Amino acid sequence: MGLVIAANWKMHKTTADTVEFCRAILQDEDKFAGVEVLICPPYTSLPAAANILGGSSLKLGAQDLHWEQEGAFTGEIAGPMLADLGVEYVIVGHSERRHVMGEDDSRISAKVKAALECGLKPILCVGETEAQREAGYTNSVIRKQLLAALEGMAAGDMDKVVIAYEPVWAIGTGKAAQPGDADAACSYIREVIEKDVGAGKADKVRIQYGGSVKEGNIGSFVELSSIQGALVGGASLKADTFSALIQAARKAVQS
Ligand code: PEP
Repeated sequence: MGLVIAANWKMHKTTADTVEFCRAILQDEDKFAGVEVLICPPYTSLPAAANILGGSSLKLGAQDLHWEQEGAFTGEIAGPMLADLGVEYVIVGHSERRHVMGEDDSRISAKVKAALECGLKPILCVGETEAQREAGYTNSVIRKQLLAALEGMAAGDMDKVVIAYEPVWAIGTGKAAQPGDADAACSYIREVIEKDVGAGKADKVRIQYGGSVKEGNIGSFVELSSIQGALVGGASLKADTFSALIQAARKAVQS
């Protein structure tokens, strides 16, 4: 399985900033061979990014979607609207959605299904808070989040899903997980999928690590056989640092 590295810009960048970034990162496109690179800008920048990235190997992702395909939901964005713009992936259940916006497992499960229904590939984020890790609940939290979102999923849909293991305490803090801890969590994710979601489904799923990933530490994650990429926040905001991170990941899996 090849690497999948996604840039999650969160609530950053205007259209002009997006155009500048996309033009700059495309200069290095030939250095990303073999790595699936996704850019997930804010909704407002999706058309500009689609325009510039269209025809390149870089793909477009959105940061969220609504669980219905349309309806009276003021301010929300539905999956078909994203698909219409050329979006291929969508982040679902990011910790900021879970812990700041109050999204629960049932809502996240509905969003995963809504994404698949309109042909989008969900990047399902799971991960424990610091308090949950300290109390020894890491695996039980991950298991509950996974099963809520994936139980009953058809084997044919499973290879469209990417899981991002993102310990909440590592996001935006500069304090990345120890590779051994990320390895244990990502191996456990694959085990839960194999045993409790459906036999034969786990080997189709790519699992990313996310949480303070940068050029200097990406190699220590992607060289692990349990991890096939990264979800990157802060280090994805500048084209040169994000490009260097992708190249470091590629080098680590090649060596
Ligand atoms: C994220 O937003 O998913 C993330 C991992 O952020 P950062 O890389 O800044 O920790």
